[in-house]
Order: sequence, then C-alpha cells, then structure tokens
Amino acid sequence: MPTVTPAPSISPNAEPNPQAGQLIVFTGPSGVGKGTLVKELLKRNSELCLSVSATTRSPRPGEVHGQHYWFLERAEFAAQVEQGKFLEWAEYAGNCYGTLSTTVDEQVAQGRTVILEIELVGARAIKAVLPHAKRIFILPPSLAELERRLRDRATDNEEAITKRLDHAQIEIAAASEFDFQIVNDDLETALAEIEAVITGN
Ligand code: ADP
Ligand code: 5GP
Repeated sequence: MPTVTPAPSISPNAEPNPQAGQLIVFTGPSGVGKGTLVKELLKRNSELCLSVSATTRSPRPGEVHGQHYWFLERAEFAAQVEQGKFLEWAEYAGNCYGTLSTTVDEQVAQGRTVILEIELVGARAIKAVLPHAKRIFILPPSLAELERRLRDRATDNEEAITKRLDHAQIEIAAASEFDFQIVNDDLETALAEIEAVITGN
C-alpha cells in the first residue's frame, strides 16, 4: 500500500519573494481547467509550489504517486483522518481527497507561495482555519464548454462525467463566496488575471 512521506516542493530552489508564505486556493468544477492553469503558473513562476493532495481515487494514465497525488487505499486515508493529518479533506464524486498539513506547513515555513487545488467543501474549510488564504474560483465560459472539456479530456467514464457535471452546478452557485472569480475562457487572459491576484496587483 502506498504511504505518505513529506511532499517535495515542485520548485525547491526558488528565491523567497515579497508574497512569501501566501496560501492560494483554486476551486472550480472538474474540467474547468484548474490543472492546466496551475501547471502553467508553476512553469512561469518559480516562487510558486503546489501542495500534493492525498486521494482514494485511482491514478489516471500518466499520473505519478507523490507528484500528482498521494494515491491511498480508503483504510489508509481514514487512518490519516483519524490521526489529524489533514488540514482539510472532503469526499468528491465517490472518492476522498485531502490536503496534508505537513506539506503546507513546510512549504509556507520556507516562505513559498503555496497553491491548493481543491473542491468546494475543502475551500470552505480553509476559509475557517486560514482566513488570510486568497481563494480563487475558476468559472467555465459556459456549462456546454465545461462538458466539452470534460469529454475532450477523455479521462473519465460516462458515469464520472455525469457526476462531475451535476456537481458543477452546485459548485458554480457558490462562486460568489470566493475572494476572486476568474473565467477560464482564453487561457492567457485567465493566467494574467490569476498572476495579478497572486502579486496583489
Ligand atoms: P480540471 O483540472 O479543472 O479538472 P483540466 O486542467 O484537466 O481541468 O482541463 C480540462 C480540459 O480542458 C483539458 O483537456 C484542458 O486541456 C482543457 N482546457 C483547459 N483550459 C482551457 C481553455 N482555456 N480553453 C480550452 N480548453 C481548456
Ligand atoms: P480529480 O479527481 O479531477 O483530480 O479531482 C476531483 C476534485 O477534487 C477537484 O475538484 C479537485 O480540485 C479536488 N481536490 C483535489 N485535491 C483535493 C484536496 O486535497 N482536498 C479537497 N477538498 N479537494 C481536492
């Protein structure tokens, strides 16, 4: 069974920056492009790093244990919940997902700007425990485009796509709870808006 060890920072040699120690939360429906945006932000901004979550979901093709997620059996995930290892955790589309406190603590202590890519219940929990985190909700240009992206991505079966689209409507209805709402229509425009939020400009 896979075990959790402290996650290495994605950009371990980054210089500290004036926004040091920030926590940035990304939330939005599955397929909206969070992963795409985060990957591009990490490539362009060496001071950013991503918190690697734990999940009970099976790896998709190409996903690596410890890099995309810590892939855990349910019993192992439950044990970590019991031990208070998670800053937040939630069940989403039949699987559990959680942010490991040690991962965030270590990276924030190193002065890094840490990104969490998490769903709605987790984002609400973060507001309660870390109210200074900047929480960004990523919106699709339309529900039709969201469905197109989920289908084009071709990583989920029909049942999972239906669950994710149903859930999307609940998530989108909560967008106004967030500090910032950004529409991921044109990728470059969305990236520029997110960078402005992170730098405080
Ligand atoms: P999420 O992480 O939110 O589930 P992904 O990053 O996996 O979403 O993106 C879902 C799909 O949408 C991917 O195939 C990705 O290439 C595509 N995508 C992401 N952003 C855009 C965009 N701005 N315009 C068109 N397609 C996009
Ligand atoms: P996916 O299965 O597509 O990778 O992720 C499904 C959902 O779980 C996405 O909305 C993603 O943001 C969310 N998620 C990923 N990691 C975490 C986490 O650590 N905590 C919470 N609450 N949600 C997460």
